[in-house]
Amino acid sequence: MMNIYNPSNEQLLKSVEEDSSQTILDKLNKLRHGQLLWSQKTVAERLNCIVKFGALVQSNIDNLAKVLTSETGKPIQQSYNEIRGANNRIEHLKQNAEKWLADNVIEGLEGTYEKIIHEPLGVVANISAWNFPYNVGYNVFLYALVAGNSVAYKPSEFATLTGLAFADLLYEAGVPENVFQCIVGDGSTGQAMLEVAFDGYFFTGSYPTGLHILKEVAPKMVPVQLELGGKDPLYVMDDVKDVKVAAVNAAEGAFYNNGQSCCAVERIYVHENIYNDFIKFFLEEVEGYVIGDPESENTFIGPLTRKGQLNLLRNQVDDAISKGAKLLLGGDELAGKGNFFAPTILIEVNHEMLVMKEESFGPIIGIQKVKNDEEAIELMKDTEYGLTSAVFSTDQARAEQVLKIMNTGTVYWNCCDRVSPNVPWSGRNKSGVGTTLSSQGIRAFTQPKAYHWREV
Ligand code: NDP
Repeated sequence: MMNIYNPSNEQLLKSVEEDSSQTILDKLNKLRHGQLLWSQKTVAERLNCIVKFGALVQSNIDNLAKVLTSETGKPIQQSYNEIRGANNRIEHLKQNAEKWLADNVIEGLEGTYEKIIHEPLGVVANISAWNFPYNVGYNVFLYALVAGNSVAYKPSEFATLTGLAFADLLYEAGVPENVFQCIVGDGSTGQAMLEVAFDGYFFTGSYPTGLHILKEVAPKMVPVQLELGGKDPLYVMDDVKDVKVAAVNAAEGAFYNNGQSCCAVERIYVHENIYNDFIKFFLEEVEGYVIGDPESENTFIGPLTRKGQLNLLRNQVDDAISKGAKLLLGGDELAGKGNFFAPTILIEVNHEMLVMKEESFGPIIGIQKVKNDEEAIELMKDTEYGLTSAVFSTDQARAEQVLKIMNTGTVYWNCCDRVSPNVPWSGRNKSGVGTTLSSQGIRAFTQPKAYHWREV
């Protein structure tokens, strides 16, 4: 049995039965049978179930938000925001999936024709993360289902109850049990999924686990998609219209969901002409955050989901201070029960420090002063990751001079830490391989079949 604890008070929420190698194999076989019938349904029939699922999620939102908050520590308002916001994937699929999955016919000369058919992959494994289980889950399992695949969904051990709720609501919406199965367990259960023959592996999580999965499943010669971490930079130029607004938005990008967002702002560079004002407003803003019980409607900063992350953050703070950084706020965990770490601001930082190089994935930010755009570009590019980069400026051309040089899957001008189903979501370098969302995100769950024919 696997115990699930509430990270804000360390109380046991529930014990659930874990899957074994044998039950994973049984579920795979079941899903293989189910996929044959599911793939023969029309896209409209499959979409119909997904739209019903979306409606069921919204009508059960109070209970689902409580579950999400209880197992991840996400402040309750942010749980509501996530559950409501993720529904845009369903709207987008509703509007576009039939078009994206339709055959493309090409008429040639002398009665020859060619056609591209988008066939499903088969049974796909979706090994997922806990930080935004609705967003990152929907990006994979809903698109995979609409494309005609069946799905073995392994939620993170820290979002298991949410994963089990997904299964119940999908069944209620008409998705057969042999088309979607939840695989329950921790990393060792994820490992066991690598040892059986899925037709594709779709992973959201850290770079080390992603790399491990890529290597382990390579001999299977099936598609592998990895949505991994980042060390996303934000550069605040000296021409921003309102330094206070820039500071407030930058702080939200860094601290929303306690910094546990793959595209959270992880390092900030500020032009020297506005640096002092920016720091003053940024500090004021973060000092005003309400920290505490995630079930309270006013809370903005709850506990970290995983206890182990407390050590990583403390280590980044110690390392930065030992190398000359100045601690402006926070710096340590909070006394009492729960995985609480104080919102932390470090200034006078540089790229010798872990906080500017390693993913923090928590409520901590390093802010570095820069002389000009060239210095900012050099520092922004100094990373092994490639998820997002952001620039705040009133001058679009100046911002784009910076953004076009960034080797990241997403760039932002005057915004940050956002994901939209309209555009592809992808990481470069250590931030991943492959694409979710947009038309490309549904094609990821298909394989093209080329069909040539001649009229006789
Ligand atoms: P992990 O890599 O630790 O875990 C991700 C998933 O993999 C979990 O379901 C985990 O199980 C499972 N897992 C662990 N070990 C193995 C293994 N050997 N084989 C197969 N599966 C395994 O990620 P984190 O929990 O640290 O998640 C946070 C990371 O995810 C951050 O780096 C973040 O940036 C990234 N992320 C990226 C996103 C993107 O879109 N690019 C979106 C969201 C997060 P369990 O948790 O049960 O141990």
